[in-house]
Amino acid sequence: MADEAWGFDTRVIHGGQQADPRTGAVVPPIYQVSTYKQDGVGGTRAGYEYSRSANPTRDALEANLASLEGGARGLAFASGLAAEDTLLRTICKPGDHVVIPGDAYGGTYRLFANVLERWGLDYTPVDQHELDEVRKAIRPTTTLIWCETPTNPLLNVADIAALAGIARDSDAKVVVDNTFASPALQQPLELGADVVVHSTTKYLGGHSDVVGGALITRDADLGERLAYHQNAMGGVSGPFDAWLVLRGIKTLAIRMQRHCDNAERVVAMLREHDAVIDVRYPDSNEVARKQMARFGGMVSFRARGGEQHALDICARTRIFTLAESLGGVESLIEHPGRMTHASAAGSTLEVPSDLVRLSVGIEDPKDLLADLRSALG
Ligand SMILES: *Cc1c(COP(=O)(O)O)cnc(C)c1O
Repeated sequence: MADEAWGFDTRVIHGGQQADPRTGAVVPPIYQVSTYKQDGVGGTRAGYEYSRSANPTRDALEANLASLEGGARGLAFASGLAAEDTLLRTICKPGDHVVIPGDAYGGTYRLFANVLERWGLDYTPVDQHELDEVRKAIRPTTTLIWCETPTNPLLNVADIAALAGIARDSDAKVVVDNTFASPALQQPLELGADVVVHSTTKYLGGHSDVVGGALITRDADLGERLAYHQNAMGGVSGPFDAWLVLRGIKTLAIRMQRHCDNAERVVAMLREHDAVIDVRYPDSNEVARKQMARFGGMVSFRARGGEQHALDICARTRIFTLAESLGGVESLIEHPGRMTHASAAGSTLEVPSDLVRLSVGIEDPKDLLADLRSALG
């Protein structure tokens, strides 16, 4: 396909896309349909028979996802976690072992700890910026290294190419959750990963109006196996949700530039501010500088004065909306210890109680800075 030679800013709009064959509509219609008329028994038109198995709107999104990540196959799911569950129960079998990040996304950790462990999947949380720790955690039964970079909410960075090397030496696969960076800033398949995972709820959707997930594989055979499980397990994206994600992706390249511009200004202000300690943003991390084009819209910091000060800051902003999730056009603020990461209290994933996490949106940066300054007191 010619698409592969196109620049990223062209692929977000045209990658894997064609005008609707029947009407010429320049964006895919929402094929809100469950079943398709057959011309005689077994005589499907264009292969569509039932929308869990395939749907033209979802197909358009899946082709676009493959193009964005430079993969052989894209698959769209009802949520990021549905994508993860399908992936894990396709690649792994009971008795296998997975190395996961010491500070994995809370829902990912819960899937391993409270769902898949009972199914027979073993896992070891490891700080993946320590490559020796990763090597030590590998067992003969390790089939997967699960990587998230940058991590949530501490913005730690793992070296994708190095992890892919470790995996190759031990016949394991590397999966990268690319939700925080998005394909606009980081291309894990190019760095040697086998599969990319997304919560399309976040930057790909980009407008806080849809929940969705995605898998993109480097290899067509694994893509085919995952497609089989996608249909067999049933966690598919509905046509309207697929359409919303595809619509969101068209502005991904331009939105990410603005998210990064605004985050850089917020980071510069926070680093100078007396009420703030320990601003977390991967701009000075050597590995991040090697594998990311820019450093994204997520920023965390600790409030001088402890948890109460952190809670006060979250209560005082007016443009930064107090809410979970991230990656939308609107700026959000949250207290991970009491909100997104409350379930991690007492575990290895526990986060500092004075931590505040920002998802920096694409509003006027002057307004964002003024809002934060006034909330910091
Ligand atoms: C939100 C998120 C998920 C889970 O995705 P859902 O769409 O909420 O199921 C997984 N990984 C990361 C990094 C996330 O931020």
